[in-house]
Amino acid sequence: MHAMTGETHHPATDDAPPAIRRLPALLVNQIAAGEVVERPASVVKELVENAIDAGATRITVELEQGGIELVRVSDDGRGIHPDQIGLALAPHATSKIAHQDDLDRIATMGFRGEALASIASVGRMSIRSRARGEPEARLIEAAGDEVGAPRPASGPPGTTVEVRNLFFNTPARRKFLRTPQTEQTRCVDWLRDLAIAHPAIAFGATVNARRVLDVPGAQSPRDRALDVLGRELGDQLLEARFDRFDDDRGVTIWGLVGLPAIARATSKAQHVFLNGRAIRDKTVQHALREAYRGLIEPARHPTAVLMIEMAPSAIDVNVHPAKLEVRFRDQSMVHQAVLRAVRDALLAADLTPSAATKTPAFFGGGVPGRAARAPEPGLASGEVSVKPRLDDSRRDVPGRPAGHADFQAIRAAIEHADRHPARAPSSALPETAGGAVLPGVARARRVLQIHDSYLVTQDDQGLVLIDQHALHERVMFEKLLARLEAGGGRLESQGLLTPVVLDADPALIDRLDDLQPLLDTLGLGITPMGPRSVGVSAMPSLLVSRNVDPAGFAADLLARFEADGIPQSSEAALHEVLDMMACKAAVKAGDPLSDDELEELLALREQVERSGSCPHGRSTTVRLTIPELERLFDRR
Ligand code: ADP
Ligand code: MG
Repeated sequence: MHAMTGETHHPATDDAPPAIRRLPALLVNQIAAGEVVERPASVVKELVENAIDAGATRITVELEQGGIELVRVSDDGRGIHPDQIGLALAPHATSKIAHQDDLDRIATMGFRGEALASIASVGRMSIRSRARGEPEARLIEAAGDEVGAPRPASGPPGTTVEVRNLFFNTPARRKFLRTPQTEQTRCVDWLRDLAIAHPAIAFGATVNARRVLDVPGAQSPRDRALDVLGRELGDQLLEARFDRFDDDRGVTIWGLVGLPAIARATSKAQHVFLNGRAIRDKTVQHALREAYRGLIEPARHPTAVLMIEMAPSAIDVNVHPAKLEVRFRDQSMVHQAVLRAVRDALLAADLTPSAATKTPAFFGGGVPGRAARAPEPGLASGEVSVKPRLDDSRRDVPGRPAGHADFQAIRAAIEHADRHPARAPSSALPETAGGAVLPGVARARRVLQIHDSYLVTQDDQGLVLIDQHALHERVMFEKLLARLEAGGGRLESQGLLTPVVLDADPALIDRLDDLQPLLDTLGLGITPMGPRSVGVSAMPSLLVSRNVDPAGFAADLLARFEADGIPQSSEAALHEVLDMMACKAAVKAGDPLSDDELEELLALREQVERSGSCPHGRSTTVRLTIPELERLFDRR
């Protein structure tokens, strides 16, 4: 009752409180079903998970009308004891856990004992099961709150669960279903994920009697993933691994991660599994994105299959009714492990895209059965080489931890080059000294500069084309990052002999205080000089050494903040400014370079991780492989 107006907010006719009732069992189950059974795909998932838990070696799924008319799942697993088949249908009845402690070590897909009861409350279900060692099967049927008596039946060992007419008694829910075609797609998507996650089990699936999935049992994870996702992806996927399963808090990761060229517009091509269960997890997605930072444009999503294995005690799966989300006890450890696994895989590969990947249409005619039907740019051509990098042999020394040590070596080499410049500062590339060349990197090579903008050279695979500005920008970006790290999170700063004064927007000058931490980090001295002007008193040493004009740089920086506002996250802000600095410090298209400078730029390319794309994710380098050249000249 509203105190002022006397209005009632519920339809009670008098002031007596409404009666509290126990809900009938059917309604209870239907409410529970609301959480677990959203659509046919949820039925497919729950029934297949039960088959997996029953130790099946082969699982067969049949769908009609997108699963709305029929979902039938058959397995050759342990089956249900004849006396217990009725219990399997009861709510909160499960063979998988018994005590509270069990919740901390769930090793099965199911444990809530809710699925069969929920599904039976909103569909017409039958279960036919013959337990191992039993002479015959039992059959039980249920629909809504009508549960039939179990009766003897024929049938092979194992279990077949059939669900017809989903939501027959809850028309409101049935209305929420999409077209059979859409529901079918969702069912098959789930099946594919379940199949990828369980390569030991054979899966077969038909939709309206048409075969949509057929994979044999006892497969390796790689073969299974490729069988499900498409064999043609094979040469576009890198294997990722991380192993630290030494104690309860350990984690093992195996995965296949896509080359940057097959990144997609949506995250649909990401398949993440935790202990055999498909999950959606922000931490994992973030780590993936982080691993590809600079390799793909920010709006795109890497293609990946990631299988994460952890002790059941290190995770909580009991936080989501359909178990799509989990809680990690140590979230940052998972983040680090995923990041490391994926980064190492990317670092170990040569990510230079081939010309055919960049312009499939151009090369399409010559590649039989490929390029022309590309649903996504780059997906079709399959021409990217995944050869190990030249210096990759060093990575395989036994006992040497892959990855991180190499980052350090690369950064150390760059830093060394910075501290021991071997060239006169008048050079266009003063800080890229010859001394920086790592052992094993060949220096003797010919390189040609075209129109003062592009470099042409060769490697063991073919002709290599480089955008000089994009490459140098990438090198500068890595150098700035390395220097930030070396400087304990700060860039070395150099005071200007004569500070420069420039005009600035008063609103921005007001907010200069907010920017101060960022400016300090970057070694930029910018302070208000009046209501409409600021003074620039210091610049990062690297920019000074590259002869970047302080007034021009500061003006551009302030203009950027004026136009786009001050970025929300400090990390985003930092990377944005580092991008700008790298761009300013880099040689431009149109800058003529001497032979030595060209050699140096190429030497740096070998040293810098991800030199294959600029900080914005665009390519710095494209390769025309020998087979592509042969095709161009009709030799093939
Ligand atoms: P949960 O999987 O959480 O235990 P369900 O309602 O899905 O709950 O299943 C209830 C029980 O029925 C399971 O614990 C299991 O003992 C039995 N069961 C269900 N499906 C199968 C199957 N395909 N093979 C053998 N037993 C099954
Ligand atoms: Mg279950």
